[in-house]
Amino acid sequence: MSAFVLRQGILHAEEVSLADIADRFGTPCWVYSRRALEAALDEFQSELGGIDALVCYAIKANSNLAVLDVLARRGAGFDIVSGGELKRVLAAGADPRRIVFSGVGKSAGEMELALQAGILCFNVESAAELDRLDSVAGALGKVAPISLRVNPDVDARTHPYVSTGLKENKFGVAYEDALPLYRHASRRRNLRVGGIDCHIGSQLLDSAPFVEALDKILLLVDRLAAEGIALEHIDLGGGLGIRYRDEVPPTVKDYLQPMLARLRQRQLRVLLEPGRRLVGNAGVLLTRVEYLKPGDVKSFAIVDAAMNDLARPALYGSWHEIVPVVPHPGAVRPWEIVGPVCESGDFLGRGRELALAAGDLLAVMSAGAYSMSMSSNYNSRPRAAEVMIDGSQAHLVRRRETIEELYALENRLP
Ligand SMILES: *Cc1c(COP(=O)(O)O)cnc(C)c1O
Repeated sequence: MSAFVLRQGILHAEEVSLADIADRFGTPCWVYSRRALEAALDEFQSELGGIDALVCYAIKANSNLAVLDVLARRGAGFDIVSGGELKRVLAAGADPRRIVFSGVGKSAGEMELALQAGILCFNVESAAELDRLDSVAGALGKVAPISLRVNPDVDARTHPYVSTGLKENKFGVAYEDALPLYRHASRRRNLRVGGIDCHIGSQLLDSAPFVEALDKILLLVDRLAAEGIALEHIDLGGGLGIRYRDEVPPTVKDYLQPMLARLRQRQLRVLLEPGRRLVGNAGVLLTRVEYLKPGDVKSFAIVDAAMNDLARPALYGSWHEIVPVVPHPGAVRPWEIVGPVCESGDFLGRGRELALAAGDLLAVMSAGAYSMSMSSNYNSRPRAAEVMIDGSQAHLVRRRETIEELYALENRLP
């Protein structure tokens, strides 16, 4: 059941009215549900019961410390893609031995940080990165645990910007290069070959490409074993989609079962890196209608949230459901829900059939993933506050930025 439901004619997050949240914290404002976060993680954990497995939440989807804390307390590990994300998860109290480090461009400094922290695994994405990691680890007198991110060349059949497992993508090492690279890695003194990983894309609505990728990866695992390179873990990446509109993504069970069936006979620890699926439907963006601008061709509802807050519609043409917090009667017409930013691409939704009045509150749904974490200060707009709902409690987990903070790091010429 969704954590966001109408009660007495007002949209609530768990037991808290979103109208009260707007009064207390202002708009625009991100609102997350602890219960929804926990339920999403539990769905994975329960399917993995009895299996040596670790769910490493991909924190780039939403990296607020409170979100990380909620998931860490429930047993999650983390998938990071930068030194900044490493510091963030450590600040949230994560166990470094539950952290995997992905990304095509790890700097020497980021490698040092992660080696000092003692992370579980580096997901290495190229031959050049392997050599750099070997020398950085050597200089520190450490041995780096590694996995190679293999590009299985399968079509995830998702948006081209979030498809990552095709040969033409920048991610991972090419399938046919993996074996020689593993041989090379296994001879390096400062590297310890621990696993193999892949991540084929995001917002996948079909489980077949995951299985296709896994079958290719398992062929490699067997060839490596035949050469005496025994892997300890297999990391299946993330990518499982969510419902934004009327999509029917696989259940976690339907997604995992065909893969677990293939893995059950093997002595491999299973790692997963879900991002969107854990947080996407656990958050909304709360915004207020500033002005209505009805017109002959198009009618615009100008709201106080914009593309700097939620970039997904402008960036990917993504569709987010937009609902009134306090539905009221009135003439329904199609509205362009747009923000104050000076770009024609600044829209949150198009042609939405709603009865609107100036001052109305709207909730942009399914805004827990790749939303606040992708927000910017474009047009010198302070980033919005973030609030975590826990039952009947509302906790401010990131205060709204001030205007002064936006230029506090800048200097005029002497
Ligand atoms: C972004 C990313 C994920 C998470 O993807 P979702 O689609 O949000 O599940 C997992 N692994 C890697 C390497 C990523 O880059």
